[in-house]
Amino acid sequence: MSKIIDGKAVAEKVLAECVDEIQQLKNNGVTPGLAVVLVGEDPASKVYVGSKVRKCAELGLHSRKIELPADASQADVLAVVQELNEDPLIHGILVQSPPPPQIDEDAIVKAIDPAKDVDGFHPENVAKLALEDASGFVPCTPSGCMRLLKEAGVETSGAEAVVIGRSMIVGKPMALLLMSKQGNATVTVAHSRTKELAEVCRRADIIVAAIGMPEFVTADMVKEGAAVIDVGINRVEDPSAKRGYRLVGDVAYDEVAAKCSAITPVPGGVGPMTIAMLISNTIKAARQSVS
Ligand code: NAD
Repeated sequence: MSKIIDGKAVAEKVLAECVDEIQQLKNNGVTPGLAVVLVGEDPASKVYVGSKVRKCAELGLHSRKIELPADASQADVLAVVQELNEDPLIHGILVQSPPPPQIDEDAIVKAIDPAKDVDGFHPENVAKLALEDASGFVPCTPSGCMRLLKEAGVETSGAEAVVIGRSMIVGKPMALLLMSKQGNATVTVAHSRTKELAEVCRRADIIVAAIGMPEFVTADMVKEGAAVIDVGINRVEDPSAKRGYRLVGDVAYDEVAAKCSAITPVPGGVGPMTIAMLISNTIKAARQSVS
């Protein structure tokens, strides 16, 4: 029987640590501030932005939500980013992804002051991650996955890890973290062109699935006793559900759970960690702004 890794509980633990740090910063006259920029009306993005701002309020952080219309221009978004770069009360800036098609997301990310890039997507922070320079910001989802592995007691040092997916948001930074001196794992990155994926996955002591395909990783791809981190969030139709759909991960949960040693559920696994790590990065940005 596998151990279910409770992402909600670990996220609460991370946030409890944040509360102490926020208080210390406030005692020194600094209230960490996060700005979230939302361009357009994407319903899922609205939900994500709303929960980030609510979490800030709950924890006593300063926050700003800037909403731009769906037809905002690149110059409009760049002007907002520039203003936030210069706002001394804002330590972290996040432009919610995906923006509307007329917006060049890469150019927006590059315009954010790297010292305020709490998503960790700016090239300077990507380089710092590769260089293992601790002053950089690590993308929230993979750093949340690392914390989940740690809290679940999964030994990464010397382990064979397979990361499925090579995105800049999850797969690539996850692989860097696992192979870093913090993770010390032997890492394989699999992607859409990988041959014999099932065979590659069966070697793994740790599987991180970040593909975006519902229940893609099946029991035959998993070694007995492996630990499985499921990053995927996929909506599948379910007429019996109130909303007409339910959320599933990239892993066929029931059959894989029966075989592995530890697994994250969806929802309630990686998801809650992402926002906790965002708050943690914002506090780090505030701390570094005064040191
Ligand atoms: P992405 O679409 O950018 O990347 C998907 C990756 O999967 C690609 O690198 C691709 O090569 C790989 N892939 C596609 N088909 C494959 C196949 N047949 N075999 C092997 N690899 C294949 O997605 P992403 O942004 O990395 O997100 C991945 C999933 O994680 C999505 O479901 C997304 O919703 C979810 N996600 C969750 C959180 C969270 O907070 N829990 C955060 C970010 C992303």
